[in-house]
Amino acid sequence: MANRALNFNAGPAALPLEVLQQAQEQFVDYHSAGMSIMEMSHRSAAFEQVNNETQALLRKLYGIPDSYYVLFLQGGASTQFSMVPMNLLQAGKPAAYVMTGSWASKALKEAKLIGETTIAASSESDKYNRIPDLSSIVVPENASYLHITSNETIEGTQFADYPNVPDNVPLVADMSSDILSRAVDINKFGLIYAGAQKNLGPSGVTIVIVRKDLVSDSLKHVPTMLRYDTHAATDSLYNTPPSFSVYMVNLTLKWIESKGGVEALEQYNRDKTKLIYDAIDLSGGFYRGFAQEGSRSAMNITFRLQTEELEKQFAKESEQQGFVGLKGHRSVGGLRASTYNAVPHENCKTLAEFMQDFQRRNG
Ligand code: PMP
Repeated sequence: MANRALNFNAGPAALPLEVLQQAQEQFVDYHSAGMSIMEMSHRSAAFEQVNNETQALLRKLYGIPDSYYVLFLQGGASTQFSMVPMNLLQAGKPAAYVMTGSWASKALKEAKLIGETTIAASSESDKYNRIPDLSSIVVPENASYLHITSNETIEGTQFADYPNVPDNVPLVADMSSDILSRAVDINKFGLIYAGAQKNLGPSGVTIVIVRKDLVSDSLKHVPTMLRYDTHAATDSLYNTPPSFSVYMVNLTLKWIESKGGVEALEQYNRDKTKLIYDAIDLSGGFYRGFAQEGSRSAMNITFRLQTEELEKQFAKESEQQGFVGLKGHRSVGGLRASTYNAVPHENCKTLAEFMQDFQRRNG
């Protein structure tokens, strides 16, 4: 058994040990080809098989209908902040954004460079410690789309339900930090995007799931590489794809399947995060959760202690005990435990016990 850290990194993040071991077995010689998958042509039958199978697995596990394209792109979710408005924002039809935190703000910033935008709802006045009430979200009838960040990785908030949108207004979601962590009704969405490096594999590949009717071939001024139709027409093989990352996503999806699929993972994630949220809630105020109760994330658990001194001590001692990645994002401070799909239940239990022990010693 490999010596594995108690990895609570926010992304890139823990991958399943089984996936790493399988990749290791195939690393030098992929299916007796005499070379690694990284050394093969992306036009080879072997890589095409990986590409097609990865797409098929994603469709099956996430329930993606034929009326959607599944694309494997590069440039991270950050490039999608631009590609979404470049491809979907139409003149005279504002793009509406729900402002939930750091990542929603970055998405809006890019859309503003492309066209007209409007804020549909915001929790900025509460320091983004909650998802705005769905009933408070105002979407213009003529909006090009409504954009949400389904899980705010830095603040640790997550939409429990998704907003309804007027007819003909597609719902667009940045699911970078919660894709495939719970069951979703894909039909509610016009477009979903996510970097792979939290729940699905290593960095390097970005997943885009987009309704076919939203992919237009009549965009005159959008560069070829930044158009969805380019990649849709070529099965994401327009240019050299991030082949090793796609292969790692393939192995991770097979691992998800072996665990019983997305519904089983959803329950698993709920059970393991409850251990940590309980350590916060039962601490009598020693730990204070950052996110308001109904908005808590099952992927990023953010919490504070009474003083920054104590937070520093917590971070330091946790590192000495083998925990990695518990310091909060530099923009909000405090502490954060990221508990993506591949973070084992037993590591969450060990963290909850460490929190209780730390409280006993410092409370
Ligand atoms: N959106 C969210 C919700 C994220 O968590 C991140 C990365 N932490 C991004 C977008 C940016 O992703 P990338 O680094 O792949 O561009």
